[in-house]
Amino acid sequence: RQDLNGETVAVIGLGVSGRSVVKLALSRGANVLALDSNPSCVPLEEDSGFEGYDLNRVQTELGPHKRETLLKASQLVLSPGVPVTHPDIAAAIQAGVPAFSELGFAAAALPGNIKVAAVTGTNGKSTVTTFTSQILRNAGVRTFVGGNLGTPLSDGVLQCLAFPAEDPPFSVAVVEVSSYQLELPGSFHPKAAVILNLTPDHLERHKSMEAYGSIKCRVFSRMEASDVAIIPQSDVLLRRLAAMSGSQATRAWMGGLPGVQLDKDARRAIVVVPTTGVEARLYLSSLQAVGTHNAHNAGTAALLALSLDVGLQSEDIQAAIPHLKAPPHRMEIVHQDDQGVVWVNDSKATNVDSTSVGIRSIVGKKAVVLLGGQAKVGVGSGGLGFGVLVESLQSHRAVVLFGASGLAIEQELRHAGLSITCTYTELFADAVQLAGSLAQPGDAVLLSPGCASFDQFKNFEHRGQVFADLAKVVST
Ligand code: ADP
Repeated sequence: RQDLNGETVAVIGLGVSGRSVVKLALSRGANVLALDSNPSCVPLEEDSGFEGYDLNRVQTELGPHKRETLLKASQLVLSPGVPVTHPDIAAAIQAGVPAFSELGFAAAALPGNIKVAAVTGTNGKSTVTTFTSQILRNAGVRTFVGGNLGTPLSDGVLQCLAFPAEDPPFSVAVVEVSSYQLELPGSFHPKAAVILNLTPDHLERHKSMEAYGSIKCRVFSRMEASDVAIIPQSDVLLRRLAAMSGSQATRAWMGGLPGVQLDKDARRAIVVVPTTGVEARLYLSSLQAVGTHNAHNAGTAALLALSLDVGLQSEDIQAAIPHLKAPPHRMEIVHQDDQGVVWVNDSKATNVDSTSVGIRSIVGKKAVVLLGGQAKVGVGSGGLGFGVLVESLQSHRAVVLFGASGLAIEQELRHAGLSITCTYTELFADAVQLAGSLAQPGDAVLLSPGCASFDQFKNFEHRGQVFADLAKVVST
């Protein structure tokens, strides 16, 4: 499938997804301009992933982007970290060079017989993506899972190129989609898509909730009446923005029917697919994942899987429920010590809303909650927005703060009336030690920090791993 023969694809950003785009562009016959503003990025020649690829068709330029290079390209593919507003990129787009995100580029070559489920929103994306793929695989449906989570969609498309178009290696792709990928979505067209929620995050790039929400709604833009677009019924802003997105998709609700509705204690769910009328009644009490938010995530995953219309029945979903496993660092129990203290790693909670969900998931026991790191800018109030946590923290044992924003968070919590023990210590390791000493037998120690990790760690996975390691040492 050499459909890009003679074209020149400029790949901007040579991280994991950029490299995958280079491979896909080469496999489709294009020449590649491989660009990265970081002069010390690993050259493709030294990357073993490129063995067998003809790198003579690649011209690499590291360092500041050059407008004349961008103008030479027949299309641009931007990595998620690269802003469309970069002056030289914007100029090339203005001059008529088509531009795509990695997702948009991959979508153009995805065989049409593969049905796509897309998951976006501020929080819960990876969990719902994972649950959906687990439901499908458990029922024997050949499923690709990736996107923002793990394997880029371009890699999935590359896999397809090795198979005859009429018999691809999977029949369904479940894709986690970030707002960055939706800035330039190309012809990305899911059969079923969900926007899980919309709360302030990434506003440094998207500027306002309205702008952030309308970018999320682009996931629906190309969808047709036989496709299913899912949003929370109670989210007025999303309802308005989705209505304005120009999508023809049939609407389904989280928290209403058709769609998915859970009973009060989140033990049972009714799922109704609007396009086919397929209905499932599910018991969720066998779900192993901690917290009611995960019952909601499982219900949403069931709705997505059924909306793909690949022949799943209610029994298939029910059979998968006890096997659903959230990805690591999301309310993950990493240790239980002799005192019955449970150590829970929710390092992925990098904003206030996900932390709020994390704290509320600890029921029937008190928690020592670790908060801190590098806080994201809040909206409106001028503060960091941690005051809203006070109500749910008040019934717990203690709060231990750490890292770059720890002191500012402490101030906000006190100002909002927090009256349980609340202490700050800069270093993460000291904070974990302190949390361990404050925990009483039978308590939980919860890391759900509400902040990015970059002040003391490589990423949230690193922070979660350090927490899990310390838990074992501190509690002995
Ligand atoms: P994302 O991929 O969107 O960052 P994850 O699935 O990785 O989301 O979950 C991140 C954190 O968000 C979890 O650790 C949990 O605290 C919280 N969370 C999970 N599901 C939901 C949900 N449905 N609504 C709100 N918060 C959630």
